[in-house]
Parts: sequence; C-alpha cells; structure tokens
Amino acid sequence: MTQRNSSFPLTRRAALAVLTSALAFGAAPRVALSSSPLDVVATTGMIADAAMRIGGTRANVRALMGPGVDPHSYRQTRSDIVAMTRADLVLWHGLYLEAQMEQFLADLGRKREVVAVADALPEDLLLSHADYAGRHDPHVWMVPTLWAQVLEGIPDLLAAQRPEAAEDFAANWAAHKTELAELDSYGSDVLSRVPEGQRVLLTAHDAFGYFGRAYGFEVIGIQGISTESEAGLNRIGELVDLLVERGIRAVFVESSVSDRNIRALVEGAGARGHEVGIGGELFSDAMGVPGTYEGTYLGMIDHNVTVIAGALGADVDPRGRLGKLATGS
Ligand SMILES: [Zn+2]
Repeated sequence: MTQRNSSFPLTRRAALAVLTSALAFGAAPRVALSSSPLDVVATTGMIADAAMRIGGTRANVRALMGPGVDPHSYRQTRSDIVAMTRADLVLWHGLYLEAQMEQFLADLGRKREVVAVADALPEDLLLSHADYAGRHDPHVWMVPTLWAQVLEGIPDLLAAQRPEAAEDFAANWAAHKTELAELDSYGSDVLSRVPEGQRVLLTAHDAFGYFGRAYGFEVIGIQGISTESEAGLNRIGELVDLLVERGIRAVFVESSVSDRNIRALVEGAGARGHEVGIGGELFSDAMGVPGTYEGTYLGMIDHNVTVIAGALGADVDPRGRLGKLATGS
C-alpha cells in the first residue's frame, strides 16, 4: 500500500510528460479520433437499450425497430440499410427473430462486423415449439437473467473496437447486470403472489415461453411463435372452451401484435356467460415509447410482470418495482 502511494505521483508525472510531448508532436488528433463514439446499430429496441447502457457516452446507438414494431415481419428500410452499412458494429438478435432480414444481415456480415447476440446462448437453455419445427423460440429477453447471458459478450464486442474504453464498458455492464438480477428477483416475487390456479398467461402470440418456464406459468399464444401464421376459427373456439372450463379471468393484448384475436376470445367467452377481462397491454416483442420508462428494457419488463401479476390476482403496486410505471391505461 505504501509502495503504491509513493509511486503514484511519479507515474502520473510520467504520463503527463508523455502526453505533453505527444501534443507537441501533433499526435493529439489521432487520440481524439480513436475515442470518437462507436457507431452501433441494433435491430430491436431491447438490444439497442443494452448497447446504450454498456456503451455509455462511448457509443452512439440506433435501434431500427421502434415501439409497436413486430420483428418477425420487419423488413429493413432504405435508411436502415444506409445506417447498417456505415456502422462500426451491427447487433441483431438471431434465432430467426428477424426472419425477413436474415439474408440481408448474412450478406452484410461479409463486409461489416455483424453479430447475432442470442447465438451466445447454449442450446440446452433454448426452448423448442411444436409449431416451429427445426428452430428455437427466440423470445429470450422475457427473463432478465437469461437476457443477461445474451448480453454478456457485448462489452468485449465494443472493446474490440475501442480498447481504450474497455474498463468503462466492463463497469457499465457490471452495473446493468446487477439491475437485471434485481429486476428478475422482483418479477419472481410478484408473480409468485398470483394464486396457483390463475397462473395461465394467454396472449396474442407465443412470446412468453421462457417467461412461463422461469416463473411457473402455463403460457398460451393464439398465434404460434411467429406472428406470421394466422389463427383459425377452430383455434379461437378451443381457447374459448379453455377460458370457460378453467375460469381464467384475464387475457392480454400485445403492443406489437393486432388485438383482433384477443377481442374475439373475450367476446366468445362472454357469449358463453363467462366474463374475461383484458388484463392489459404487454410489451412482447418491442419496448414502449423512447424517452419513457416503459421505453427501456428495465421498464418494459417491470411493466409486464407488474401488469400480469396484478391482473391475475396478486396484490401488487401498479407503479411497479421502482414506482415509475405509468398507470391507469
Ligand atoms: Zn414474437
């Protein structure tokens, strides 16, 4: 300890001397250039949010898909193509989430640094689905601790291009990872207060498989894993039977999927004398409006778990984990 204290001023003086001579020899512009913010493009808002947290002031991050946008059917626009071809780093989800962009991203990957972040997950953590043969369920962001495993590699990806900021990226990530763990604990807590018989989550499409596995909910989507398949009348009829038989009292709409099927279900159950409410709107495949709490990953998941728990009978504060959720909608 004493040794470190006594050597520190010397080291600093030496560093200053190097810097002064670098300035004198006109090396300053190169230093400034290499610390310009990294230009990152991410497909979904959830990935962009993580890149912003980890990159901090060292990264300019742009999300291609805003609120309400369905990634299963999204196709890159002309301005997206320009942004991606100019970026230092393109982050996409993978697991066939961006089904309409796969070919473009694969081609771009030959010219730019393009990374599918969900590829980091080991296969034994991934879920399969009967309606989605040969592929895995992509909705891994629904569980903060699982999502943390997806994001784990981002600090190194950023540091590979800005080595001088590696410590900042690592520190930002450590702080965010703690928030993700706290969010997960909050979710487990409020969801465990839902009466056991009510732990059924019925939504427009099958985006909550990982959520169900993590928190002990049966999950049912009217459409399959991808929003690209259409739900038939038979499917609606079957689900009305299920709602009536099981006495399920709330179903949920999603911000990025049409609410047509959910409303048909509520009406169908009503016609059979069973009242089902719409428990709220969940952020399944897209976050809320940028600049709001729900427009961040932490707010998105806080909203989802709080709304689900509250609508299915748990006693929870509708303002959520941090008292920041918009209520009354
Ligand atoms: Zn989806």
